[in-house]
Amino acid sequence: MAARVEDQRARRGYIGGEFVELEGQERIPVFEASSGEVLAEVTEATPSDVDRAVRAAQRALPEWSARPPAERAAALSSWHQAIEGRAEEFATSISREVGTPIRHSRSIQVGNPLAILAHTADALTSMTFTEQVGNCLVALEPVGVVGAITPWNYPLQQVVAKVAPALAAGCTVVLKASEVAPLTAFILAETAGAAGLPPGTLNVLVGRGELTGEALVTHPLVDKLSFTGSTRAGRRIAELAGSLVRPVTLELGGKSASLVLDDADLATAAKFAVYNAFLNSGQTCTALTRLLVPRARIREAEEVAAATAAKLVPGDPLDEATRLGPLASESQLERVRGYIRLGIEEGARLVCGGAAPPAGRERGYYVQPTIFGDVDPGMTIAQEEIFGPVLCIIGHDGDDHALEIANGTPYGLAGAVWSSDQQRALAVARRLRAGTVEVNGGAFSTEAPFGGVRQSGYGREFGRYGIAEFLTPKSLQL
Ligand code: NAD
Repeated sequence: MAARVEDQRARRGYIGGEFVELEGQERIPVFEASSGEVLAEVTEATPSDVDRAVRAAQRALPEWSARPPAERAAALSSWHQAIEGRAEEFATSISREVGTPIRHSRSIQVGNPLAILAHTADALTSMTFTEQVGNCLVALEPVGVVGAITPWNYPLQQVVAKVAPALAAGCTVVLKASEVAPLTAFILAETAGAAGLPPGTLNVLVGRGELTGEALVTHPLVDKLSFTGSTRAGRRIAELAGSLVRPVTLELGGKSASLVLDDADLATAAKFAVYNAFLNSGQTCTALTRLLVPRARIREAEEVAAATAAKLVPGDPLDEATRLGPLASESQLERVRGYIRLGIEEGARLVCGGAAPPAGRERGYYVQPTIFGDVDPGMTIAQEEIFGPVLCIIGHDGDDHALEIANGTPYGLAGAVWSSDQQRALAVARRLRAGTVEVNGGAFSTEAPFGGVRQSGYGREFGRYGIAEFLTPKSLQL
């Protein structure tokens, strides 16, 4: 019988289809978001552990990549079932290590990755891997061994969004999961084994970026990198990969805006903006953290937003009634409080919230849902990604001005446009420099391509676009 996952989490990596002892001796504590207490310890993988994992992935590559796509799709469907069978365990683990309210963990943290996996398997069965171009047979071939590096905010989704399309394409993977929320990745490794994914197709390690991450990025046998995380780390990884001429997909940060046009239903748009910006306590890369409203209606927007935020009382993530949990870590808490203080120093006005802990929530990583008014688009709080429940409300003087503000940061991940005229909303959405735009509250898709432009990164995830990131065309001249 397999050892309990808690034991495995304590000191192991997942290499070649089994949990193994690592050479690494360094232990990294994992903290419970709601209390700040140590939840578990994981072992940091050394460069030689990374080497072992990459070699396991390389050994598994010939057999896996030679399997017909339909067989790979069937394996992904079995994996889907195995994850679904442990959905509640995933949700609870994520709520504890990330702080996501349990209801949102079930629906978003676990529901979305399941949907991504199902769409990936579907896309794989409908794709063609050869085509005739002129005198050539063009074959789409797997790029090889993939190094995947993921953040802590959606620890199952970010992993599945890389590993599923890579496996679909016929690649094998070494995952370096986030050291802040690594427990989910170990449960995932167990499900991969239980679903019968061949040993070595998925290997899982944990460690800090500078040590374990960079060892993976620069390993000579890695053919492709897929990274989700901060723009800072993405830049470093792209530099290292660039010197090795190694392809990279980068899913980075954002400072996305909701554009409320002058004919929109402002109350609906403002409510949506608050729920979106504060989802997962604002620790969402696509969070719409700037609400741009017609200047004459700023006060109205502030009132609706404050009333909506008042309903989001910070609480224990494992309580069914909670809709706003703590942040994921102490450093995240300090960072978000620092930005709130900076906003006040910069001259923005607190509509609600502030840097002090919420009443009765001094333990754990809780922060008050915070809304700023009188925000100038050039202020630091309106330019930089805060990654906490902090919303900036900014006035605009018409569609062109709103677009200028929305496009006026270095990022380009997401956006939203609200108008009673769908065609007008669409025309403005087309002018937003972003990879994904919600039009009048259109729902997030786990099937259509997802990714950013400018400093939000390059490459796409989900569905056939996600699989395409791990394929390379070969022209066979006939
Ligand atoms: P981070 O960049 O600090 O870390 C992400 C991962 O990269 C971790 O596994 C970390 O260990 C690793 N890492 C860090 N430095 C590295 C290096 N030099 N070499 C190799 N690996 C390295 O980000 P985070 O704090 O974990 O996550 C938050 C960030 O992720 C935010 O900026 C957020 O916007 C972004 N994010 C983006 C998306 C997206 O799809 N665009 C999704 C979620 C989160």
